[in-house]
Amino acid sequence: MGSIGDFHSHSTISDGRLKPTQLIDLAHRNGVRVMALTDHDIVDGLPEAFEAASRYPDFTLIPGIEMSTDVPGNEVHILGHFIDWEDAAFRRRLLALQQSRLGRAQAMVAKLTELGKPVTWERVQHFAGEGSVGRPHIALALIEAGHVGSVNQAFDLYLSRTGPAYVQRERLNPDEVVELLRGVGGLATLAHPRELNIAGNLEGVLGLLKDAGLIGIEVFYQDYRPDEIEHLHGLAKKFDLLPLGGSDYHGLNNPQQREPGDIPLPEQSVERLLALARERGVLQRARGPRAS
Ligand SMILES: [Zn+2]
Ligand SMILES: [Zn+2]
Repeated sequence: MGSIGDFHSHSTISDGRLKPTQLIDLAHRNGVRVMALTDHDIVDGLPEAFEAASRYPDFTLIPGIEMSTDVPGNEVHILGHFIDWEDAAFRRRLLALQQSRLGRAQAMVAKLTELGKPVTWERVQHFAGEGSVGRPHIALALIEAGHVGSVNQAFDLYLSRTGPAYVQRERLNPDEVVELLRGVGGLATLAHPRELNIAGNLEGVLGLLKDAGLIGIEVFYQDYRPDEIEHLHGLAKKFDLLPLGGSDYHGLNNPQQREPGDIPLPEQSVERLLALARERGVLQRARGPRAS
């Protein structure tokens, strides 16, 4: 089906629809052999994911996270791989971010009520399950309440950055996030750079983040076209970044969704990330046959 590597995925612990075990099972079934779980601003899925991964002797799991940050006019996501996810100060910082995320989701639900499109907090939480509440869960509650027909429509009409129910998150600068990830030995990668590229400020952001310690950029991602991949590959070379990628699998069945491993990530990219982790002395934070 595709690549043996997938460095970007979500479980029910953030806004994905599969539990960590189901996600690992699906990825393994699809031929993925080196994978990162990268839930949004949370690492609580990793114990279950490691346990699930240990059932497959040919499967290596990298501990990861996806952190949200902002540049003027855009939300930027940064992946951290090989993080020391058990570090106490790091986990306290994540908890504070999670609490602010909860307050933000509640504020969006209140705005929807004001707009005459009420959903209950209880239903939003139901869709979030054990995970931290995010906009996709509010979108599912909007569908259930009959206010919209799809997740995309929920975002287009209400929840997108320019939508009437949108509430800003607590701001973290991208270079602060890269620093935070480096503080726990994480290798930081810029996620899904297409939007920044369209907005025309990708090169500026890459310059800033490279100085802060960025090591990679997602070049192979979901429905990125060959010409986009070529352009991003050129930028990876220009800024001396590893050309990485992932499916960003959420299980939400939107049109651009790809299954775990269903991306044209070359094996060479997998090898280069593992080699860098070895060089930085963090490879052993992954578990599996490729972690030593
Ligand atoms: Zn993202
Ligand atoms: Zn993601």
